[in-house]
Amino acid sequence: MNLRNSKILVVAAHPDDDVLGCGGTIAKAISLKSKIKILFLGEGVSARFGIGNENKKKSLDARKKRNIECKNSLKILGVNDYIFEERFCTQFDTYPLLNIVKSIENQISIFKPNLVFTHNPSEVNIDHRITHNAVEVATRPKKNSFIKEVYSFEIVCSGNWKFNKNFSPTTYVDISKFMKRKLKSWEQYKNETKNFPFPRSREGLKVLAKYRGMQSYLKYAEAFKLERELV
Ligand SMILES: [Zn+2]
Repeated sequence: MNLRNSKILVVAAHPDDDVLGCGGTIAKAISLKSKIKILFLGEGVSARFGIGNENKKKSLDARKKRNIECKNSLKILGVNDYIFEERFCTQFDTYPLLNIVKSIENQISIFKPNLVFTHNPSEVNIDHRITHNAVEVATRPKKNSFIKEVYSFEIVCSGNWKFNKNFSPTTYVDISKFMKRKLKSWEQYKNETKNFPFPRSREGLKVLAKYRGMQSYLKYAEAFKLERELV
């Protein structure tokens, strides 16, 4: 994974998956002069209000707030290129896969990334799983493919709660110098965090980064699985 002078497209299901899955790596890549674009396929809030209430005032207000928090979070990471598509949260299975694939293909053709980061399939959240499936289709190799590597990341929480946990990392990124920034970026999402041992807590994020760090002899690491590489 070359983080210097790369063009990295991050395909995330919801605002906050970017920072949870690869926030430290994003900050590191930007410090190494890479360009980052983030495609958020869905909003991450409306599931709390029940089916049919997605566009009611309470839900819309919460969605708006979430996007503001996301922009604050991205500012801390140094990202200014992003798109909110706002498919309904935890309902990606109600959209044709082709609809999601086309969105991703569109951004690929505009941005021309050499690296793509997305969710791994071993996740409880259905939107995360479908995002993985859609990226698998959208990044399939073609004539003159500019995408050289596709990596999947893990989401503390959704990954922890899987019955059969089979995310098996191949690649570890040293984020020791960027851990503070990842935490600060994460803390912009005021309604997402709870106290430890809830996984999506300040301590939970640190525990996972330390655990991945132990596997790679680093203080803090983010783990990825290389899904496809063209050499
Ligand atoms: Zn998510």
